[in-house]
Amino acid sequence: MKPTKLTFVNGKPTLVSYDKVVRTENDKAYNYHRKVNDNEYMKFYHSTEWKHKRQEILERDYHLCQRCGMEAELVDHIIPSKDDWSDRLNSDNLQSLCRECHKVKTKREWMKHHKGMTRYMDINIVCGLPGSGKTTYVKQHMTEHDLIYDYDSLMCSLSGLNNHQTNHDIHDYIMLFFDQMLRKLKSEQTFNNVWIIRTLPDKKIDTLLSNYHHINHIVLITDPIVCEQRLREQKRQIEFQKVLNNFNGADFTGYRVVKNR
Ligand SMILES: [Zn+2]
Repeated sequence: MKPTKLTFVNGKPTLVSYDKVVRTENDKAYNYHRKVNDNEYMKFYHSTEWKHKRQEILERDYHLCQRCGMEAELVDHIIPSKDDWSDRLNSDNLQSLCRECHKVKTKREWMKHHKGMTRYMDINIVCGLPGSGKTTYVKQHMTEHDLIYDYDSLMCSLSGLNNHQTNHDIHDYIMLFFDQMLRKLKSEQTFNNVWIIRTLPDKKIDTLLSNYHHINHIVLITDPIVCEQRLREQKRQIEFQKVLNNFNGADFTGYRVVKNR
């Protein structure tokens, strides 16, 4: 049998024969896109508007590279301007970088446009009832260079409470971080895997990331009696019946069911 490789065809991860060249197709699309936009693109980088903004950002960042702390030499769009043109003058999307860090970042962005050649990042959404063993599941399946977003552990570390109480003021901060994280993930291939641990599915995540990444949906099914017992043992104060009702009513279409103990 001929060996295969995983690559992107028309934006979808596909298994193709090992020697098939898919890269040129991606290149063509990318170059066409560039050509059409180049004119506006160059005009922007020569505009007074941009020069002023650039100076403002360097001063805001004290002329320090926001990645390594050395002297900054340029101002970078966190989400590349060609990916999100509307955000090109948004200070929140701009950062000062040194040339070396910019090179590393540009290489990552290049990889994003040539996914078939290198690797792509898997996004894994792991849902399940509280106490169903989500954190353990992720720990068992993660690799060495992964990002794990776990609402519960963020709540613990930000609130200083370790009995899994929910502080509603902190909840807002955790969600804010979640939104920012999704925004950043949208344009990067930094990790082998991203794990998003949550109780219920959230269509927003799929909408935001579907064009960019391969998303795996996993739902852990654990006997509710076992979950509740675990929560009691861990002294986690959760309105379990309410969560269970929401869980039973949620739409898990497209999710892979993993039976857990
Ligand atoms: Zn740097």
